Amino acid sequence: MGASELTVDREPSTGQGTDGRRDLGLRPAPELIDTHCHLADRRLSGRLEAVLARSRAAGVTKWIAASASHDEWDRLLELSTIHEGLHAAFGIHPWYCDRHQAMHLHRLPALLDQAVAVGECGLDFGPKRPAPKLQEHWLRLQLQLAKELAKPVILHAYKSLDRLIAMIEEVPEITGVVHGFAGSRQQAERLIARGFFLGLGTRLLRSGRLKRLVDGLPLHALLIESDAPDQSLHANRLNEPAVLPRILAEVARIRAMESELLALQLNSNAARLFSLETQANGAKA
Ligand SMILES: [Zn+2]
Repeated sequence: MGASELTVDREPSTGQGTDGRRDLGLRPAPELIDTHCHLADRRLSGRLEAVLARSRAAGVTKWIAASASHDEWDRLLELSTIHEGLHAAFGIHPWYCDRHQAMHLHRLPALLDQAVAVGECGLDFGPKRPAPKLQEHWLRLQLQLAKELAKPVILHAYKSLDRLIAMIEEVPEITGVVHGFAGSRQQAERLIARGFFLGLGTRLLRSGRLKRLVDGLPLHALLIESDAPDQSLHANRLNEPAVLPRILAEVARIRAMESELLALQLNSNAARLFSLETQANGAKA
């Protein structure tokens, strides 16, 4: 089990197609949890049944579905009651914070009663985004809400990670995940020291820097995610949770470990953060 050479023949070969589960051999793999996707996104409406069917066929049977803006909340709440395994997170994304008022914030506690996390919230200091001060105002409110309701936060960060870390360090009671993590080793270590998780998505498949970073991080702090319908590997196609086995296979390859064992660890991480029930103890998927 400890000999890393043994895992080499399990590495995905090129031309294997997009179904990473073919690489897992005859044993059934544990079912996977997509810890960050946007299933209430308008771009998926009308095709969600097919997206979820492809997801289940790929072994991804639970989803943490985040919302970006108040206009998604009702649909997401409805989806979370219809689809088993679909867990909602309600929040205000930094891109859209200038479209929100106090009344939207006041609606959040009742929604969060039926949710596993606050989010997606965070900071994005890219061009043409709402003013940083306004973003920080909305993030601070949501971090306080997470603290009051004892819910984890799902965080977005772009060119803002140091500021984001400083803000979460001001609220030591909360935990959460920085989804689509793309920061430095030092930033990763600061987050992990605060009890935060790092979400890994399709960017991992293309970034040598991220692969080297993932090689040295503690497994107990990692999650995998699609961010569907965003972060697609194909220019003209929407991303889907069914991509998750490829991310799992890549982390397993980097860490030279069995995909099944890694999946159990990642499921257990997600279960811990989002208070989910899973087969994390190795029961059959
Ligand atoms: Zn997202």
